[in-house]
Parts: sequence; structure tokens; C-alpha cells
Amino acid sequence: MAWMLAKAWRWLPLLCVLGCAQAWGAPPPLIVQAADGKVSLLPRAELLEDPGGRLGLAQAMRDEAGWKSPAAGDTRNFGFTHSTWWLRLRLQGGSGGAQTRILELASSLQDYMDLYLVRPSGAVLASYHTGDQRPFRQRGLDYRNPAFPLILSADEPVDVYLRLDTRDGLYETFGVDLWSPPAFMTAAHTEALLYGLYFGILLALLAYNLLLFVSTRDRSFGLYVVYVGSFFVWNFICAGYAFQYLWPDQPRLNNLMFALTGIGSFFSFMLFIGEYVQVGNTPLRWLLPLYRMGTVFCLLGCLPELAGNHALGYMLEFPIFIVVVSMCLAIGVKMALDPSLPGSRAARYALLAFSPIAVAIPLYYLSSVGLLASTVLTRNMMQIGSAAEVLLLAFGLADRMNTLKAQKLAAERSAREAQAALATRLEQQVRERTRELEQANLQLASAAITDELTGAFNRRHFNEIFAAEIRRRRGEQQLAFCIFDVDHFKSYNDRYGHQMGDEVLHTVAAALRSRLQRSGDKLFRLGGEEFGIVIGVDDVDKARGFVDALRSEVEALKIPHESAPLGIVTASFGLLVVAAADPDAQPKDIYAAADALLYQAKSAGRNRIQCGVA
Ligand code: GH3
Ligand code: MG
Ligand code: MG
Repeated sequence: MAWMLAKAWRWLPLLCVLGCAQAWGAPPPLIVQAADGKVSLLPRAELLEDPGGRLGLAQAMRDEAGWKSPAAGDTRNFGFTHSTWWLRLRLQGGSGGAQTRILELASSLQDYMDLYLVRPSGAVLASYHTGDQRPFRQRGLDYRNPAFPLILSADEPVDVYLRLDTRDGLYETFGVDLWSPPAFMTAAHTEALLYGLYFGILLALLAYNLLLFVSTRDRSFGLYVVYVGSFFVWNFICAGYAFQYLWPDQPRLNNLMFALTGIGSFFSFMLFIGEYVQVGNTPLRWLLPLYRMGTVFCLLGCLPELAGNHALGYMLEFPIFIVVVSMCLAIGVKMALDPSLPGSRAARYALLAFSPIAVAIPLYYLSSVGLLASTVLTRNMMQIGSAAEVLLLAFGLADRMNTLKAQKLAAERSAREAQAALATRLEQQVRERTRELEQANLQLASAAITDELTGAFNRRHFNEIFAAEIRRRRGEQQLAFCIFDVDHFKSYNDRYGHQMGDEVLHTVAAALRSRLQRSGDKLFRLGGEEFGIVIGVDDVDKARGFVDALRSEVEALKIPHESAPLGIVTASFGLLVVAAADPDAQPKDIYAAADALLYQAKSAGRNRIQCGVA
């Protein structure tokens, strides 16, 4: 600031206004008192419109009819117009000697600005030609906005003529203020601090999210970084700092970068919101083509800006912007109100973040085109809205990270649960299969030792266990082995057929098997219509009684057999009771003895028991 003022002093000798006042018939001069910190000149200045932009200072001074006094309610924002505008005001210092003042045009984006300080006699004391289409060094003070030092004498007034012109027909919102140096310094310091905070917030968020993007590779963070980055530069240009510090000698580059970063921030914002809210994952995805179309139209609207024509760009962008913004808001509200949608939470954050800027931008535009008065609030609306937006979006991203983390944990938990459930199911299946296999094995084993037709054990099983049975029972009980044979079975087959014969075998075996209830009692089919029975007995009589009951059982079946003497199917039994203590009893001898007894029973007339003891 001190350096700025030092530069200003060099102009002071030129600006000392001497001589007597020569009125142009305008209101009396504005007397600036020593105590006045800041005086807003814009509402007090007379205006002259020069539609062709051809008037020079001398012609403008002479065109008395063209000058208009300020009217009540006039916002003094010109908006879209190709006219050149002149402002004039007569200033004079109050009592107390000459006063140093700084005249500031509060807009860093004004294209052309020519300032003339003229004595009432008509002599030009000083002139400045600046604006953002001219190199920065042509400014009176090294300050982000055009600002010029001047000295107001109490003896003679000075006429200030300000000529404003644009390249493309769009006047940014502006103010013209007269500052006392201390007030200017205080305001500049405060402003620098606030801008520092603002840009600091943007830079911190930019750096933080850049690091997050590098570590997570999440596209949302990347797009957010591009958005905040381009928005940062755009704002840096808007505030006049970029021109002052980055490229003071390149007004064209300044304007090109203004257009590029404006487009860049808009486009990256749209991409970011699309990615962040993930409309594509919701039933609202049919709106996406409309959203993309709106974005592309907005971009097309930006093209004239690249050619340096901000006016046309603004005119095209604004209506499309309103449509796109309304659509975004509608989608946002719909998603935010439906918590079942995947992006609902994100939509709420986006909506919250978007609201301040959605209000700020239209207000900024309205004040740009002269429909709203230019105030500190409207001039800084974008900064306030955007800082709130960028902060809230960063908060939203943090929330998204939390949500993703929670989703990841939930997914891991459910994966673990699914794995455990799978393991349990597999174990159960293995158990079931093992049981089935065991059952199948049992069935197989049982099938291997069972006679299919009669359900009795087969001959192979008899051969396998007969000797063991004899050994096992030895010393415990008496063992009875009985062979029985169906009588006249050949003639039964001959008369009734082999199939009926099979049924007889099955019926007889089933009937006898049902009587062999004690464990260890076994029925074997030894071959043809001949069966063997192994039973444990206490004594010979009981054995005989039991076997006789079996014989009666066959008889009681009353299976017709017309070729037999009794007219029914009967059977003959050869029963051998083996003493438990007999160590010499051999299986083949026992078998042969029982077979011999059966032969005797047959010979004796059949349907009877022949019993013997070994
Ligand atoms: P006996 O009273 O002396 O025992 O006379 P039998 O006719 O019963 O005796 P034999 O040994 O002369 O005849 C046995 C018959 O049993 C011959 C055979 O056709 C029949 N047979 C053997 N196995 C089966 C079978 O599995 N099913 C049928 N239906 N008949 C069989
Ligand atoms: Mg027989
Ligand atoms: Mg036989």
C-alpha cells in the first residue's frame, strides 16, 4: 500500500488544480470535506450517451444538450449496449486546504476507461487511459481496480470526465468512488484480507481434494479439483489480481483466460455434479440426455466468449443457464426427497451447496445488465455464494467418503456372513451326502447278502457266517440249525407256473421271517425252495416246539396246491440241535446232519419235523 501511494505522489504536481471556476451551467461542485472517507460519485455524476462512440473530450464537453442529470432510482449500470458513456462531475476541496484523494473505478473488468481531469477554464490537467483491454501499467495506481490519485484545491474546482467504452457491448457492474487515502488504505487492507481468506479457502480445498484424488483415484475428487481450480483462476481474474500479478502486460491473455476458466468451471461443475449425484444409478436416468444437452448448449453459448465477445456469450448463456439450473434443481429436489434413491444423500448436499450460488448468479447477472443496483453485496455475491458452495461440496464429498466407507464395511460384513452361510450349507450338504452314502452303502451291503425274491439272507451270506455263528454261540446257548424244503414244489410249478411258484417262496419266507423275532435268529435261502434257519435255543423241546410252530405257519397259509396230498402248500423240516459245549461240531457236519434229518422228514411223509441232537 505504501508503495502504491509512493507511486501516486509522482502524479501530484500535475493534478494541482489552480485558477478560477468556470461553470458549465451544471450544479455547483461537490465539495469534498477533509473528514469524508469515501464518497460515491456515480449517483451524482451527469451522464452523456455517445451511441457512435466518436466523441472526443472537447466534443463531449461542448455537447451541453446531451448531458443528463442523475435521476432518482437510476442504477447507473449500462448492461448490454454498444454506446460509449461519459460521466462528469465537478469536485472541489472543502475548507482546510488542498486534499489528496483517490478516484477508483470499482470494476476490474471494464474494457476501456479514459479519465480526464479538466480545469474549469477547459485546460486538461491530466488524463489516464486504462481498462482491462490495455496494459496494466497504464493505471494511475498499482491496484487491482483502476484507481487514480488527485488533489482537490479549496480555491478552484476540477472537472472529472470519465469515458467508458466496451469491446463487445457489455458493461460489467461498477462503481465510481472517491476515497481519502486512509479510508482507501483501510478498505484495501480489509478487502485484501477477505480476498486472501476467500482464495485461501479455495486453495486449501483444492490442495486437500487433489491429495484425496491422488490417493483414492475417485473421479468425483478429480472433477471437483478441476472445478475449484478453474473457478479459482476465474475469480482471481474477476477480482483483478490475475491482471495485476500474473500477466500485467497481456490484456488479451487476461481476457482469453477469463473466458476459458469461466467455461472450464461451468463444464467441470456440471460433470462433477453428474458424477457426484450419480443420477445414472436412479430411475431418473432418463433425464440425463436432457442434462447433457443443456450442458452442451451452455458450452456453445460460451463460444463467443472465447472470441472475446462476452456480451454475446452472456446473452446466449443466461437463458440456457436458467433452464439447466432449473432442471438441476428439479432433479436435485426430486432425488433429495426420495431417500430410497441411491444418490439421495448426495443430492441433498449438492442442493444445499448449489442454493447460494444459484441465487447469487442471477442476482449478479441482473445487476450486470442494470436491473439491480450495484452494491457491495451484489458485487461480491458470487464470491460469497461460491465460497459457501465450494465448502459445502467439500463437506458433501467427505460425507460421500463416509458413506462409501460404511457401504464397504457393510459389503465386507455381508460377504463374511455369506461366506459363513456358504460354509455351513456346504458342511450340511457334506453331512447329508455322507448320510446318503452310508445309507446307500448299507443298502448295497444288505443287497449283497439278501436274496432278492424272498428277502431272506442269501447262500453266500450263509457260507460266510455259518461257521462264525456256530463259534459265537458255542459256550453260551444251544444252537439249532434247521433246513426246510417246500413239499412237492416241482409239481406246484408245473401246475401253477414258475411265477406263482416264486410268489409261494416269497410268501412262505415272509411268514417265517416274521416269526424269527429274536436277535440272532436268521433265515437263509440255501437254494431253490430250500431254506436254512439258525436259532439260539435253551433246550431240544423248545426248539422242536418253535420249529413245529413254523411248520404250522406254512400250513396255516393255506396256499392251494391241488397236486399235493393235502391240497395246500406245506414244508418239511430237518432240525438239528447242537450242544453248546460240543467243541467238535463242524459246520459241514452240522449242515449234513440237518440235511439228512430233512431227508428223513420227506421220506416219512412230508409236512413234518425230523429232529436230532448233535
Ligand atoms: P419234494 O417234496 O421231494 O421236495 O419234491 P419237490 O418237487 O419239491 O422237489 P424237487 O427237488 O424235485 O423239485 C424242486 C423244484 O423247485 C424244481 C425247481 O423247478 C423248483 N425251483 C427251484 N428253485 C425255484 C425258484 O426259484 N422258483 C420256482 N418257481 N421254482 C423253483
Ligand atoms: Mg421240495
Ligand atoms: Mg428241493
